Amino acid sequence: MKKQFIILFIAFTAILSSCTVKSSKVSSDIDNKVDSILSLMTLEEKIGQLTLYTSDMDQTGPFIKKQYEDDIKEGKVGAIFNAYGAEYVRRLQEIAVNNTRLRIPLMFGYDVIHGHQTIFPVPLAEAATWDMMAIEKSARVAASEAAAQGLNWVFAPMCDIARDPRWGRIVEGAGEDTYLGSDIARARIRGFQGTDVSDVNTVAACVKHFAAYGASQAGRDYNSVDMSERMLREVYLPPYKAAVEEGALTVMSSFNDLDGIPATANKYLLNDILRTEWGFDGFLVTDYASINELVTHGVATDTLEAAKMALIAGSDMDMQAGAFNKALGKFVEDEKLNEGYIDDAVRRILKAKYKLGLFDDPFKYCSVEREKAEIMKPENRQAAREVAVKSMVLLKNQDSLLPLNKSVRSIAVIGPLADAKQEMLGSWSAAGDYNKAVSVVEGLQAKVPTARVTYAKGCNINDDNTTLIGEAVKAARSSDVVILALGEGAQMSGEAASRADISLPGVQQKLAEEILKTGKPVVVVLFNGRPLTINWINDNIPAIVEAWFPGTEAGNAVADVLFGDYNPSGKLPVTFPRSVGQIPIYYSMKNTGRPADPKSKWTSKYLDISNDPLYVFGYGLSYTTFSYSEISLSSNNFSGKDSLQIKVTVANTGKYKGIEVVQLYIHDKVASVTPPVKLLKGYTGVELNPGQAKDVIFTIKADDLAFYRADMTFGCEPGDYTIYVGGNSRDTKSAEFTLNLPL
Ligand code: BGC
Repeated sequence: MKKQFIILFIAFTAILSSCTVKSSKVSSDIDNKVDSILSLMTLEEKIGQLTLYTSDMDQTGPFIKKQYEDDIKEGKVGAIFNAYGAEYVRRLQEIAVNNTRLRIPLMFGYDVIHGHQTIFPVPLAEAATWDMMAIEKSARVAASEAAAQGLNWVFAPMCDIARDPRWGRIVEGAGEDTYLGSDIARARIRGFQGTDVSDVNTVAACVKHFAAYGASQAGRDYNSVDMSERMLREVYLPPYKAAVEEGALTVMSSFNDLDGIPATANKYLLNDILRTEWGFDGFLVTDYASINELVTHGVATDTLEAAKMALIAGSDMDMQAGAFNKALGKFVEDEKLNEGYIDDAVRRILKAKYKLGLFDDPFKYCSVEREKAEIMKPENRQAAREVAVKSMVLLKNQDSLLPLNKSVRSIAVIGPLADAKQEMLGSWSAAGDYNKAVSVVEGLQAKVPTARVTYAKGCNINDDNTTLIGEAVKAARSSDVVILALGEGAQMSGEAASRADISLPGVQQKLAEEILKTGKPVVVVLFNGRPLTINWINDNIPAIVEAWFPGTEAGNAVADVLFGDYNPSGKLPVTFPRSVGQIPIYYSMKNTGRPADPKSKWTSKYLDISNDPLYVFGYGLSYTTFSYSEISLSSNNFSGKDSLQIKVTVANTGKYKGIEVVQLYIHDKVASVTPPVKLLKGYTGVELNPGQAKDVIFTIKADDLAFYRADMTFGCEPGDYTIYVGGNSRDTKSAEFTLNLPL
């Protein structure tokens, strides 16, 4: 036995020592190494590689439970999540590398969703920047902090298109649009993985939740998804695909069933689409204990059967169910499972470890010095502040109440979110320490040190207690201006945080009504992880800033925007409804055979409210104003060869320098499949000084007009199109062209 071990050890060391090749080497080289390792592995060791367990760090701190230690020593674990800190990770990695027969290093994963310790705005907020450099930078900083704390794998980006604001996880994604969502998915992959994923400050990304989780029925988390193949391919799949094309190393399947088959065991999704059609060659991890849920879904009789189903369908790694460990060995021994499935999964996992450079140095992410230097360094906080200001959306600014003047003498800062550091981080705040966050009160006081800042809570976030309102009214009366910080608590969106009523919770509207009665100028700053139905606020409050959950630098970013040090440029990545009854509501709807007509009852509308949303997709004001020229096209007859140029001149007609996100939409007038009324096909941010004008030129190729045609082939169709360009999806200029494809 001992002799056998020594031989194996020598063989393995030989493989490892030659494993110093960097990812620039051809992948067949990696495949050969991986195959050599695989040939040395026992069945049990192989199954161990397919297993991911949590460290329970959140409950226990960096303490290693005996059970985990034993599991790692016995080679029953391939990766750990929820464990970070250079020293803690080193200790866990040492157990794996020093005790297991083959010394295969562990991967360490974590939900780094919008920053690791320096928390950036929630992903939905980042999407409102429409700025891919900013989003990439956010992921880059998150990766470098995570990697400095032992992590080499993040469970992000979430690429689920979401059109139902009741669904709490809408906060984790890029909103309702496929085009914008795909760009953002790519930017995040570039940010996390960099140009070389084996670099010490990059991490493997994990595209989730595959697939169509954002369409959970009734906006209820974990609920079923059922949609047409066309809708799936046209709207929901492209962002995941974009992330895979950008080189994402891993993908996570979703909790939901799709067309009756839970994603965890959905061969069509995991194998046929992801691997065969898209050529994904990384590994696929299940979501949390979702193998066990196959039993609850009602497609497997027990966990053992569920494990086999998940593996055969294409799942490589079992997150937390422990089902692969329990079941797969026995199935192989009984000749009820082909070991080839296990080998393929192991190969994919070892390949990822290889690409990360873990075989070269399992401790490369465990430098205490680097950890100290990297975590929350001033540049990271500065980057978070820059992204936060860009993510804020000015929803209303009657009589140019904003920006406020820095010579203001007194400010009342009122509301349950005004002095709420913990809430500022939003859900999934990873290793973020809210004590290091800047509250709105602190941010405002720092911005205008000469002003008297009076804070009053006014009410709690979500109860019916009105006793604090009186004190808040008093504070408002004695101040020149009121900043009212309202919204949701951080945990009111995110996983398992669906809401049936998406208005301001508790008595916050009542508070706003009482404050408004004082006659003081009132600015509402909203903190929330989803669109809210805030009709009363919109109708009555003169100035409204959508701040989402801005992260560590929240208060500073809010102050930058309110006092005009940053002129808001954010645009909504998701439609805000007037009423929950309008959901699902999104800009790219179909015309229907009976578009809404107020003069006719027999059209597609409601009896009680209009179809119009409160705020349309792409909407957002600035302290300045912009004008758009008519559109000029390079040709009205587009042959489909080369490209079509679409030009508009955008001018800053106001008093402040500002950035306008110019948006391009297209409508196919007649097609074999009912076309959406508008579809985003381009956007760009232009910065203009007062009085300055710039030409903005978009280029469209025939491919940009492609869609899933009646026969489900993907391509474009000749005919007439309308082009729209504007500062949101409603207020646009238009022009027409004909696509004349050669016969
Ligand atoms: C979530 C995933 C997350 C995982 C690990 C699950 O409950 O759905 O998004 O990555 O937990 O924490």
